[in-house]
Amino acid sequence: MVRQDKITYLITAFKIEGTEYGHLKEAPLDCLIRTVLSQATNDDNRDRSYAAMKARYADWDELGKAPLPELEETLRSGGLARRKARTIRAVLQWAHANFGSYTLDPVANWETPKLFAELTKIPGVGVKTVAILACFSLGRAVFPVDVHVHRVLSRLGVTSRKLSPEQTFMTVDPFIPLNRDALLHLNLIELGRHFCKARQPLCEACRFRDICDYYLQKNDWAVK
Ligand code: SF4
Repeated sequence: MVRQDKITYLITAFKIEGTEYGHLKEAPLDCLIRTVLSQATNDDNRDRSYAAMKARYADWDELGKAPLPELEETLRSGGLARRKARTIRAVLQWAHANFGSYTLDPVANWETPKLFAELTKIPGVGVKTVAILACFSLGRAVFPVDVHVHRVLSRLGVTSRKLSPEQTFMTVDPFIPLNRDALLHLNLIELGRHFCKARQPLCEACRFRDICDYYLQKNDWAVK
């Protein structure tokens, strides 16, 4: 079950209006790899490791041929370098095998279901990563759910706390009005980072406490 009224409340409170979000229009490959680098770290570390990678390798061809330990070393500052280097290598190999060069530009012509079905076959690339690509690079009506968004939505009671982030994405995505996806995602991330923190949320300072199941101890969050 999805509390659509709470989604509407959030969109109104965040003043998200009916214009299309000027998405990043970053090339799909850049967007996907930047998202891989954002896993389990903050924006500064992600940007630092992305910049280090770009500074070390002239282009995707050079990066594609780089020894894995060298790529791993280049990404060290962002954390989980071993895993991220392997995922990036897998993405590049997949792109080259499917499109004959290091590009994901042709996926812009794919329908959204095919985008998810195909890209999630790449080891290390999950639903959240593809959702971010779809929303922010391709401008699709897709609502990415990361750990922050998942935590905030489940505490507010928009969806059940028993759902995984991926299940929350599947459940909520159809209920997000057109052209509200990107800005709602970004606003919920900010709320999650600054107020609805994983440990010790700052509920007394949060403007959503009157509709929040966690704060009100209602529904899934009711003390049994
Ligand atoms: S009231 Fe507390 S738990 Fe609810 S959204 Fe705000 S910070 Fe999160």
